[in-house]
Amino acid sequence: MENLYKKVAETMINLKQCVALTGAGISEESGIPTFRDKGGLWGKYDPMVYASIDVFMKDPSKYWSLRDLFIKNYDDYKPNKAHYALKDLEEMEILRCVITQNIDGLHIKAGSKNVIEIHGSIREIFCLKCNKKYETPNIPDGIPPYCSCGGVLKPNTVLFGEELPPEAIMKAKHESMTCKIMLLIGTSAIVYPAASLPHLAQQNGAQIVEINIERAFPNADYYIEGKAGVVLPKIVDTIRTITIDR
Ligand SMILES: [Zn+2]
Repeated sequence: MENLYKKVAETMINLKQCVALTGAGISEESGIPTFRDKGGLWGKYDPMVYASIDVFMKDPSKYWSLRDLFIKNYDDYKPNKAHYALKDLEEMEILRCVITQNIDGLHIKAGSKNVIEIHGSIREIFCLKCNKKYETPNIPDGIPPYCSCGGVLKPNTVLFGEELPPEAIMKAKHESMTCKIMLLIGTSAIVYPAASLPHLAQQNGAQIVEINIERAFPNADYYIEGKAGVVLPKIVDTIRTITIDR
């Protein structure tokens, strides 16, 4: 195990140009309710009713009836050691950017600068009529909440049936194709387009390091089993030890 950390740390120091792809697993340690996992939100609430764009446009109260589950508590959720470790790696100029499937905004809260949120973020809520932006937790009450102009408010997240933000996807693909190492963290990488990113990276010669409690990407060059909040700080420490010794 120690050897594995050393190998991964050496590779990251030598190659740099590292990109992280993060999923629900990294936020779970912050207490964020998961969506797809066993016991996750979409096990209790049918996403095709509660989080589909078609239903939202007809009856936004369905979506907003779940607002207490995440938006109301948005400010209570804090980044964990894994988010901070990625911020450290960015400051060390080893990590170039974080591509995340998460909508909780925790990477930005932790201080990461270059973050691509491919499913959007609940940080911002906007009016479907006049486009005015509201920031969580300062959202008007009500199910659904209305803008001062009378328009319905919608979170800046991608609902089912909705197109992903094209600019974010383009950037994510570009980062994946040009990085030298991709860290897969807490993502099962089964949902497209995130699922295609490690393949894009590998096809273009990048090494893949998977950090997960369960292996999801059998073709990874390195697999470190464990929670992101434990593994990532240990990688950062190992990198620091190696670079100080030099
Ligand atoms: Zn408005």
